[in-house]
Amino acid sequence: MNLWKLSAGTACVVGKKHVRTDVLPTTAYIMLGAKCRHNCRFCAQARSSAARADLLSRVTWPELDGTEAVQAISAAFQAGNLKRACLQVVHSEASWPTSVRAVEALAQASDIPVCVASAIDTVEQARELVSRGAERICIALDAATPAIFHQVKDGHWQRRWELLHQVAAELPGRASTHLIVGLGETEEEMIKTIEQCVNKGIAVGLFAFTPVRGTAWAERRPPAIGQYRRVQIAHFLLQSGCSPDVFRYRQGTLTGINLPLGELKQLLSAGTAFETSGCPDCNRPYYNERPGGSMYNYPRRLSRTEAEQAMKESGIVAGLAGAAR
Ligand code: SF4
Repeated sequence: MNLWKLSAGTACVVGKKHVRTDVLPTTAYIMLGAKCRHNCRFCAQARSSAARADLLSRVTWPELDGTEAVQAISAAFQAGNLKRACLQVVHSEASWPTSVRAVEALAQASDIPVCVASAIDTVEQARELVSRGAERICIALDAATPAIFHQVKDGHWQRRWELLHQVAAELPGRASTHLIVGLGETEEEMIKTIEQCVNKGIAVGLFAFTPVRGTAWAERRPPAIGQYRRVQIAHFLLQSGCSPDVFRYRQGTLTGINLPLGELKQLLSAGTAFETSGCPDCNRPYYNERPGGSMYNYPRRLSRTEAEQAMKESGIVAGLAGAAR
């Protein structure tokens, strides 16, 4: 098998690299292929990116022989140190056979749930990946709206959106997507797209836009923490069954939530809203965060103080105002 790239944290969990960190991944993150056919403005693997080839977002990806990687991941799963494997397949001519081979190799070695983020075009391909052993299929929208997609990515938002919905309808409980906050969308646009995903049973992995040196958007700023917290809160409330009618917006910004304050605080007090979201057991430590910087996604449970702080940062939980907007 070819070389596989494991995220530095994954390589550490499987015993192939030493990394100094306070939180390790609970999912094995694997990147297959290099130099994407597409040209996303934010991505280190984009066609015209001059970023280091071993980067995706902030994370470095050391290489390992594929067979050795499969064995190490399976052993870590059996030891209880990993709960999922995630294949991020860079779009190229070889991405389909690469995806199929990698899914099969992981599925034959252990029962680890595998999700695949690969450039597929049809539901039949999604079905085939499932038949080869994939547990979930991720079709990344990245951008909340067609207009933002057009500014930052190649391809067609609408086609991805329709495929994602078809996969969710025909393979219930197996569809995931990624949405990146801070590409220029309003909070209202982002929350309405999340709402439609939640309604269809699609798991949403929220990301914060992260500038990476060498990419087209290297100089652009990441989203304000207040903006990110408000989107996290809305996502969590929608997932918890709240009606979208509770959200109040002014000029696209979430300015309030029509729920009794006590109820809202109780829902948010455990801090789950601010943990990494997406497929089950996906925690992506330090994918968007610098150690010591803003913790957009907590890769672990929050302390009571951290949960209070996150609520405060949102600026919309009354009595805890004082947020960064
Ligand atoms: S949500 Fe996590 S596990 Fe699922 S596809 Fe995205 S990165 Fe992979």
